Amino acid sequence: MEPGTFKDRLLMECDPHQLIEGMILSAYTIGADISYIFIRGEYLVAIQRLRDALQECYAAGLLGDNILGSGYSLEMYVHPSAGRYICGEETALINALEGKRANPRAKPPFPQVSGLWGRPTIVNNVETLCNIPHIIDRGADWFKTLGVGEDAGTKLFGVSGKVNNPGCWELPMGTPIREIIEEHAGGMRDGYQLKGFLPGGGSTDFLTAEHLDLAMDYNVIGAAGSRMGTGTMIILDDRTCPVGMVLNLIRFFAHESCGFCTPCRDGLPWSRQVLQDIEEGRGQPEDLETLAYQIKYIGAIGNTHCALAPGAMEPLQSALKYFYDDFKQHISSGRCPYH
Ligand code: SF4
Repeated sequence: MEPGTFKDRLLMECDPHQLIEGMILSAYTIGADISYIFIRGEYLVAIQRLRDALQECYAAGLLGDNILGSGYSLEMYVHPSAGRYICGEETALINALEGKRANPRAKPPFPQVSGLWGRPTIVNNVETLCNIPHIIDRGADWFKTLGVGEDAGTKLFGVSGKVNNPGCWELPMGTPIREIIEEHAGGMRDGYQLKGFLPGGGSTDFLTAEHLDLAMDYNVIGAAGSRMGTGTMIILDDRTCPVGMVLNLIRFFAHESCGFCTPCRDGLPWSRQVLQDIEEGRGQPEDLETLAYQIKYIGAIGNTHCALAPGAMEPLQSALKYFYDDFKQHISSGRCPYH
């Protein structure tokens, strides 16, 4: 559910067998005898294709009892869930799978020790698991050579926003941001200029045109003050209001808060209200100080039980850093200058 991120849905819809193979290999490696594909219930196409692929695997003897006469047995289920954003946190996902409210659990114990129904469990992302068959087939050294920067392998990079060709592409790790936006996404549409972008989904910090020549590597993007996140970029153009865009994101995160801890449950709606006031022309000069306080309080690691609230503060804090004049103009003119 990360805003702007759609890469895993494509993997499940377009190559479900790849994911299943990665899960079988991973389960065999750790000696697991049961596995689940936890998926949002709205992903109807992906659910159907995964179920069809599972049936084929059972029919071919690749799942179930005594797989290919090896003595190893594995069951695999597709688990459509009501889902919440917080189910991207592994212990919240495990709670949801057990039929409980999707609150994150205290760690330790970590799921590897005590996870689903108290049994050792690993939770991994679809894209990660889809890499496994290829690494097993061709080796780790081969995989490492695929990257062109510091990090190994390939990555699904995506771009959404006012570009000519929004989409998702498998590219070497370390591909320059400029190449992703200008070549693969076809550059900005006529009449629009790039004002900024969230490099890895809605919970990452904005970067701007001065960062276009950076490589999409974890350390490089971290050093620039943001995160790789999911590697799927959301573009902010010069005709879209940055205050409105951040308001939209904070509204989403406030709605998705599981409600377990106060800074997230009460703080995010407070941030949303302040941003809404600014966007709708009711902002006061002191609102900028209030937002700075909220960023410090809600965004501090350790003030909340999981990373949802600090992640929600990332687009806000970087918008204030790069687009401060836009916030001030909203307040001084009593209206959104983009409308
Ligand atoms: S930070 Fe938010 S989502 Fe995470 S546990 Fe606290 S209330 Fe729940």
